[in-house]
Amino acid sequence: MTDRVIQIIGGGMAGSEAAWQAAEAGARVVLHEMRPAVGTFAHRTGHLAEMVCSNSFRSDDDEQNAVGLLHWEMRAAGSLIMAMADAHRLPAGGALAVDRDPFAESVTARLRAHPNIEIRAGEITGLPDTGPAIIATGPLTSGALAQAIAAETGQDALAFFDAIAPIVYAESIDMSVAWEQSRYDKGETLEEQRAYINCPMTRDEYETFIDALIAADKAEFHEGETAQYFDGCLPIEVMAERGRETLRHGPMKPVGLTNPHNPTVKPWAVVQLRRDNALGTLYNIVGFQTKMKYGAQTAVFKMIPGLQDASFARLGGIHRNTFINSPTLLDGQMRLRSKPHIRFAGQITGVEGYVESAAMGLLAGRLAAAEVLGHSLPPVPQETAMGALVHHITGGAEAKTFQPMNVNFGLFPPVEGFRAGRRGRVDRYKAYTDRAKAAWTAWLAPQRADAA
Ligand SMILES: Cc1cc2nc3c(=O)[nH]c(=O)nc-3n(C[C@H](O)[C@H](O)[C@H](O)COP(=O)(O)OP(=O)(O)OC[C@H]3O[C@@H](n4cnc5c(N)ncnc54)[C@H](O)[C@@H]3O)c2cc1C
Repeated sequence: MTDRVIQIIGGGMAGSEAAWQAAEAGARVVLHEMRPAVGTFAHRTGHLAEMVCSNSFRSDDDEQNAVGLLHWEMRAAGSLIMAMADAHRLPAGGALAVDRDPFAESVTARLRAHPNIEIRAGEITGLPDTGPAIIATGPLTSGALAQAIAAETGQDALAFFDAIAPIVYAESIDMSVAWEQSRYDKGETLEEQRAYINCPMTRDEYETFIDALIAADKAEFHEGETAQYFDGCLPIEVMAERGRETLRHGPMKPVGLTNPHNPTVKPWAVVQLRRDNALGTLYNIVGFQTKMKYGAQTAVFKMIPGLQDASFARLGGIHRNTFINSPTLLDGQMRLRSKPHIRFAGQITGVEGYVESAAMGLLAGRLAAAEVLGHSLPPVPQETAMGALVHHITGGAEAKTFQPMNVNFGLFPPVEGFRAGRRGRVDRYKAYTDRAKAAWTAWLAPQRADAA
């Protein structure tokens, strides 16, 4: 047993899992949680691992769904969050729904009872001077700590809102309608000159689209969410409400683009999609942040010519969310490059969702424990859900447009030899999950041997 104690700040999904993993590996942990003395607008209790909104861990299908695969990988790694979610599971078809209060109470009780874990109540207001430390303070990180993080990383590298444009799987875009071109063919290389995918609209299509945007069902803002956000990132439907031509002079302007499928006709408006990951499997719809409800988004965005069969890796949204620009700030071991004694984990790293946040806690806890116990862990294979996520946030994502991300198969290196598109999907997804399970099992095996 080492004398070095891992300080974990924030006892939510990520901090709780990180504490458990580090303690189970044999390291000593102090877990700091500010609730109930200091609250947030979303949390209601003083329990660790409180679910702030929905009670779902989403799909539990580990053969056909990326988040279901992440459940599988976490269970294989002895995850506390998954074990307690399973123990308090509610009937919900293929989804893993959780009885939230007993779940949070049992996570809290298990952490309190662990001999290697001390839980300390109170807000931490500055970055730890010595390590190892893990910051897992989540989307509602308290103001004083957020300021300290911004002072270290630079204001531009810490966001307080996410304005997420929908993200589409590249393979589901109809390229017999859309085409690749940067506005005015800008760029030195052919790749840059073709960096965007363009979807053309006629005048009628544009008018019908604007009507649909204005009529669509919108989500309400949570209390305390609206401050500051209107400055830079208006929801697309708000732009449409301000004037029918606003979008045509904004994100949907048709200038500097020629449709090779119909070169003599100028489109009335153009929707542009920009590459969202290094693999080129995901594209975001430029400027289309939105508060439309998810069902409405799918219906409205499929009206865009070329996106009629689109599959969405994630839909758009605007939320209060504190997160750092991980692709520039963190190394592959989730350490802050400028202060490597500090790791970040959970939603503050730019993943999104209970499961993804807990998963990043799991990894950070194992990495920190390995460090204090004097061994190192090899990089997590990118073929696993865990590896695909951590690789995305620490380097695979486009840093300039970095926005929080759910786990999805678009983050995985493609599997070869399967049919593209919907028809090949079942076999392709099974191949992704089989490959991931083998790689994850192999990554875990030496750690089990070490612990034995
Ligand atoms: C309003 C809202 C609704 C959401 N709805 C959903 C949903 O339905 N489904 C979903 O999957 N995800 C949802 N999310 C995202 C959700 O917050 C994350 O998925 C998940 O809780 C993040 O885990 P985390 O551990 O990173 O952060 P959290 O679970 O929020 O944990 C962070 C912890 O750090 C503590 N803390 C903060 N600052 C300090 C400090 N300075 N010192 C000490 N402790 C501190 C907080 O009290 C908290 O307990 C929602 C987020 C918000 C804000």
